[in-house]
Order: sequence, then structure tokens, then C-alpha cells
Amino acid sequence: MSESLSRRTFLGAAAAAAATTALPADALGAAIEAPGVFRRRAARFTAISSANGIRGVQRAVELMQKGSDTLDAGVEGVKIQELDPNDNSVGYGGLPNEEGVVQLDASCMHGPTKRAGAVAALEGIKTPSEVARLVLKYTNHILLVGLGAKRFAMSYGFKDEDLLTPQSREIWLRWRANRGHEDDWVDVLDTEQMVVRPTGTINLNTINDKGEISSITTTSGLAFKIPGRAGDSPIVGAGQYTDNAIGAAGSTGLGEANIMVCGGFLTVEHMRQGMRPTDACLATLKRVVALTPPRLLDPQGKPKFQLTFYAINKLGEYGSAAIYAGTYAVHDGTEAKIRDSAVLFPK
Ligand code: ASP
Repeated sequence: MSESLSRRTFLGAAAAAAATTALPADALGAAIEAPGVFRRRAARFTAISSANGIRGVQRAVELMQKGSDTLDAGVEGVKIQELDPNDNSVGYGGLPNEEGVVQLDASCMHGPTKRAGAVAALEGIKTPSEVARLVLKYTNHILLVGLGAKRFAMSYGFKDEDLLTPQSREIWLRWRANRGHEDDWVDVLDTEQMVVRPTGTINLNTINDKGEISSITTTSGLAFKIPGRAGDSPIVGAGQYTDNAIGAAGSTGLGEANIMVCGGFLTVEHMRQGMRPTDACLATLKRVVALTPPRLLDPQGKPKFQLTFYAINKLGEYGSAAIYAGTYAVHDGTEAKIRDSAVLFPK
């Protein structure tokens, strides 16, 4: 089901954007107050995402170039991963919780209309990004969880489906067999073991030629999590955040570490203070390390987890930074490419 934000809503948003078109130079300068940091030029169609979003940024920019709203374009971009059975970190085929049940999280923000929507621990629905957008569009709420979120989705015609693929079930069964030597599950041979607790998510941020910005993050969350656990992805201000006057940011990686610093929000605030996107992401990661409890740090004081931020500013400048080496996807209006994130701790 593809729910576009209503034409009426967006005519309103477009009119508002047109009205502010004359404003950005002054309003933006006043809001950002960072001499020399932002060149005042019009934003181009740009999308930045986690590396698994290489097809998503391509799709999002193509749609925006044809006139799609920035959030609608972003949702269509992330849906490619949600519907891909081979992406074990998002939507259909995502890895389940410790009981073998797939529980999905997603959140989104639409800059021009200053609205947000999110779902957490949603079961049986392949595209939580669309459900988050429905929360944004049709309710006075921001976050729906669990059964309530599922019933809400089904009221719009979504089907309740089995989200486990044969492959994701196999990965879960092997994890369950090997999780402890004292339990009653016979261990799988080490040589047959699959990757231990793989992580993943897609965050995608978009801007169009009018400087309208949106962000979206969707995930199956930490593999084999405790049932009911919600990560950072459905938390507005953590998994993603947009302020249409400044920019957008989102993350992938250990959600709990991000929630501790409200990383999406903090990265946008760093940009408000004048940092460029990559520096803003790095500054947020430094805060993450400062707030990490000792049990999650190695003897050198480095985190035992990965976390990556992706950011875009009002001018369409973009960047990403990760605790350890990683990559991201970007389409700058010309072509989609994979680039290296800046790194907090180079090996
Ligand atoms: N951030 C996601 C979560 O904690 C997982 C990930 O990105 O790997 O739910």
C-alpha cells in the first residue's frame, strides 16, 4: 500500500515553502548564525542514507526530480529495503527477536509541515515506514506501538503477513541453538555458525530544490532482542530528526547508545551551531563515547559497538561519521555513490 501525503496537505506545504523561498538567505543565516560555514546557494535534490540504501537514494532523488514530496520520496526509497527478503535488517526478512518474532520499528519527520510519526514493535506488516507516515498524516499522535500499531495499520488495509523468510528463520534457529551450552537446544557446529547478531537499519534523509527536508529510519532492530524492545529508530530525535530550517540527521548501529544522546536531534543542533554535516556527526559520536558505560568500552576506552550518523543541511551539503570504518550512500542530484564515512577511531 502506498499512501501519499494528501495533495491538499502538500499544496499547503508547497505554498508555505514558496512563501519562504525568499526568506532562506536571511532566515537561515539568522537561524544558523555560522559565518562562513554555509554558502548561500539553492539546495539540489539530494538524498543520503546508510550504505544499504544505495537503491533507495537513487529512487528518492528520481521521485523528487519528478515532483514527489521529500517524505514520500524517502518512504519509497526505504521500501526497497523493507520489501527485499535478502536485507536481514529491515522489514520483510528482518531478523526476529529472541522468540523468533519479527518486530519492526520506524519513524519519520516531514520538515515543511513540522510533523512526525513512528511505530515500534510492529508485527506482521512488511513496510513500517508507510505506517509511520500514516501516523504522521492522520493522527494527533507521534508513536504507536505493538498491537495498537498493528491494528492501526490493518485499518488502512495492510495485510498481516509472516515476515520470516526461510533464510531469516534459519539464522534465528542457529542463534537459538548456540546461545548457551547449558540449555536444551543442541548446539550447531562452530563451522556451520552464521554471523553472530548482525545489525542493520536504513536511515534516509532527503532535500529538494526548494530546501524542503524529510527524514526516515526503518529497521527490524537489534537481532534476537528481548521481545518488546524498541531501539532508537522509532524514537523521534534519536533514530532520525528534521528541522526544516537547519537539516536532518539519522543513524544506524547500537540503538541504546544513540538514545542516550538523542543523536538525531543533537546532530541537527550541532549543524544549527554552524557545524557542517560530517563534523556534526563526529561531535555527536564524541558525546556517545562520553556517555557510554564502562561495560560497553574496551580497555582502551573505545566502544564495543558500531554507530553511524548521516546528516544533510539546508543547502544540501551532506556527510556521515562512524565510530569505526564504514560507508554510506548518497545521491547528490547527479549520481548515486557509496562513500566512506568519517571515522572517530581509525584502526
Ligand atoms: N539502530 C538499530 C536498533 O538499535 C539497529 C541497527 O541499526 O543495527 O534497533
